[in-house]
Amino acid sequence: MDTRDPLTDFLSNPDFAPHISSVKHISAAPARFASLPPNLDPRLKTALAGRGIESLYSHQRTAWDSAEAGDDFVVVTPTASGKTLCYNLPVTQALLADPDARALYLFPTKALSQDQQAELNALIEAGSLPLKAATYDGDTPQSTRKVARDSGRIVISNPDMLHSGVLPNHAKWIKFFTGLRYIVVDEMHSYRGVFGSHVANVFRRLLRVAAYYGSTPRFILCSATIGNPSELAEALIGRPVRAITENGAPHAEKVVIFYNPPVVDAVQGIRKSSADEAMAIAALFLASGVRTILFARSRLKVEILAAYLNKRFENIFTENSRIRVEPYRSGLLPNERRQIERGLRDGSIHGVVSTNALELGIDIGGLAAAVISGWPGSLASFWQQAGRAGRRKGSSMAVYVATSSPVDQYLIEHPDRFFNATAENARIDPDNPYIYTDHIKCAAFELPFKKGESFGSDPEAVLGFLEEEGTVRNTGGRWYWSDSGYPAEKISLRSATADNVVIINTTNGANEVIGEMDRPSAKELVFDDAVYIHRGKQFIVLKLDIENRQCLVEERETNYYTDAIVKNDIKVLSEDEHLGTDALPIVVGDLLVRSSAEKFKKLRFHTNENIGYGEIYLPPEEMQTRTLAVLFPESAEPGAILRPMAELERAASLAAFCSIIRALAPIELLCDRSDLGATWRVRDDHYGVPAIYVWDQYPGGTGLVEALSHSLGSVLEAAAERLSACDCVDGCPSCIGVAPEAFSTVKRRKAGTASLVTATIRGLGRNGGEAR
Ligand SMILES: [Zn+2]
Repeated sequence: MDTRDPLTDFLSNPDFAPHISSVKHISAAPARFASLPPNLDPRLKTALAGRGIESLYSHQRTAWDSAEAGDDFVVVTPTASGKTLCYNLPVTQALLADPDARALYLFPTKALSQDQQAELNALIEAGSLPLKAATYDGDTPQSTRKVARDSGRIVISNPDMLHSGVLPNHAKWIKFFTGLRYIVVDEMHSYRGVFGSHVANVFRRLLRVAAYYGSTPRFILCSATIGNPSELAEALIGRPVRAITENGAPHAEKVVIFYNPPVVDAVQGIRKSSADEAMAIAALFLASGVRTILFARSRLKVEILAAYLNKRFENIFTENSRIRVEPYRSGLLPNERRQIERGLRDGSIHGVVSTNALELGIDIGGLAAAVISGWPGSLASFWQQAGRAGRRKGSSMAVYVATSSPVDQYLIEHPDRFFNATAENARIDPDNPYIYTDHIKCAAFELPFKKGESFGSDPEAVLGFLEEEGTVRNTGGRWYWSDSGYPAEKISLRSATADNVVIINTTNGANEVIGEMDRPSAKELVFDDAVYIHRGKQFIVLKLDIENRQCLVEERETNYYTDAIVKNDIKVLSEDEHLGTDALPIVVGDLLVRSSAEKFKKLRFHTNENIGYGEIYLPPEEMQTRTLAVLFPESAEPGAILRPMAELERAASLAAFCSIIRALAPIELLCDRSDLGATWRVRDDHYGVPAIYVWDQYPGGTGLVEALSHSLGSVLEAAAERLSACDCVDGCPSCIGVAPEAFSTVKRRKAGTASLVTATIRGLGRNGGEAR
């Protein structure tokens, strides 16, 4: 489809044109081909020919050559660049050459596993290859599990299943582990933070079990664009990894448009809703026949926007307009999802509104336009979403519609960051003490530990501790699991603590589980009398029973939502690393955070007006984690800025400083704002000077604080720019946020914060111009 006309239409539309802040053209690139490897098995050659493939893209050939050389490698190329052949070819070649060889494919979600099984089967059929690929996950029926174990040459699974189903039962998998030659890890960028830290330990266990059966498998990893692919890969598998980043696949022309909704309240700094504007743009495209995907941030938004869009076409068109828009999100049944994916591929569905569920590599064919409402959290996500529009032929459009948040407003002013700058770095900390200890237990259950065996930072220290606890026993220089339990069962790879609260709907005598939440979040979100929203429905919390890990809710219409007022008490436990300068000391160490919520606000929907308070009666939550403290000694410049301020003004500036650091940190780090906690002290008990603390919200930390300590200067420079670019009078949601009640009398809050930020940048010895 020629999209030039809809593009011109959009760029000249009087409703939208004034708010388009920039337009970037990415010109088409031709393919770079490489010949098929001379030693490629003739059956594979036939299989490729059957699928119309006579030569490879250059990166596919580089991947082949790396596999031949016996390297572990990671392929980092965009969506639809033919990544799957980068692993399918070397793996099937190895499996054809050796009838005992096996491979393990891991995907972060079940939907992706199913897609891959179909892709592999097509290759196997095209070449009549004597290979069998079998999916082994939570949905695999017991009756076919044994077949998968015994005769699956390629087993397709996910890290959770590997952790709780395969590794603890390795004795049933002898053939598989003995022959294991390759481990394929796709969507590697999703293994970061807590999940990535767990998965790195699962890989340690996997290699340990494989070694026991005499095999040393190689890793092939694939990732969307991130700043540090080989570093993340090496942290995950504990070995050097070669990065293949040169993309040989062709791509068609693409236009990326940056759209900033108009300001509706200049004093408060409020813009028109990003979701509403994005919907209007999507409607314009759909009405002119452009197949469009609209990305929204929450499941609720997805449902609402899809309903609005369908309604809109009902009104404009006669009933045979046949424009159909579907919502796509997690929580849909698998067959509902498959139907939508098929409808998008065959063109019977014209538009889809989706959460990031469609961001990962599920095949939906190429759409002509993608509209992205709000920053999806990382450049990797942005390009995956934008990549949903346009595959290989025909030009396409991607429209990014900013929200009022500081990150969106910063990025809309810096479109070049999307094209030039390196992507954010992904971090994990496999030696996080909680996560590490959990996996030592699992590993000890799987095979006894030998003295001197290597497994992460210090297995013997942890084994000594577990011995005292009575869960392992040391006999003849070996540690054996001696507990009755089955440790993997209690450990979830997706959270740092195992004890989730189950949310139960009791409306009209029902007793139905509708959701789950980790305990610390439950205390702040589903306390007694809180409003809980699930799939567009409102519920009132009748009782949060922390001891029994359950929360009873009842459906009820309300005109407000609830927001807990959380207080944090902190205690410095250790000072591990002193960074920064004399003028601006920075300390990285351990921190005890005690959070308590004693009150909550009732806020009216839409207007956010405060219409009342309620009490919360719950014990505080304690967590030990990693922190970064920035100190402001009054003898040096940044501190001297604070000195003449009145106490309340000083507190307001430090609070705003914390707020903007938290808001902008995701520009440099692959994390969400909610992954970091922060607080300030006008006079800190431990250091005796004004200070701010930023900590990792996961017990023990996941490497975020350490990463922030290296990129703090860049985050502060972004903050300084945002503060000077923001048009508001004295603070707004696009910079330091609106003043909390306690600071409502403080004037010049924004100016005070801006001078503190610039002084801090100088205190770090930076002149403000240099980046990174
Ligand atoms: Zn502002």
